[in-house]
Amino acid sequence: MTNSSYGINAALSPPNYNLSSNTGDLGGLEVFCLNKEFPTLREISMRALKSSMLALGLMFGFPHAGQSQIINILGPTPIIAGVRLQCNGAISYVANISDIAMATPGQLLFRPDFFFLPPTIQWFIYTHECAHQVVGSNENAADCWAIKLGRNQGFFSLQALNQICGYTFPSPGDWTHLPGPARCAQMAMCYRTP
Ligand SMILES: [Zn+2]
Repeated sequence: MTNSSYGINAALSPPNYNLSSNTGDLGGLEVFCLNKEFPTLREISMRALKSSMLALGLMFGFPHAGQSQIINILGPTPIIAGVRLQCNGAISYVANISDIAMATPGQLLFRPDFFFLPPTIQWFIYTHECAHQVVGSNENAADCWAIKLGRNQGFFSLQALNQICGYTFPSPGDWTHLPGPARCAQMAMCYRTP
């Protein structure tokens, strides 16, 4: 795969990322924080966020995601289902794409209808796409990484896991690297693993 717009099939060389869990209160918002160094609690000024998002949007321009049409730039710290998330600086976009969401190096793309999904599903998909920045193209690894991160940061209860399974199982049909029972079982196993 040497396509520059390879999306979820991205073959990234996994950098040395560690997770930085930020459970601090951010005006009612929590943060999925990926950090290249060590887990730290980080305070983020909302004002700084706004201006940096604007600047980054201008600097990075539009992603080269094949024929996808960019609708909106959400920046590196999008609010997903009411929670400000981040993925080690990856820029999130709303875009007309064939899948509900996809990842390219440094970029996360979400179709408009993504934002109507239940919060738990939105957080899972965001984290799954983020995982591709870290673990590369392996779907099982991305699922596992996402499930554990969400669990560790208090986003995914056991009930949430069931909801995620319910979503990925009788699939709505358009998240192509979907699932099936095996994927669900694998995620449950990851959930139970430290
Ligand atoms: Zn994936």
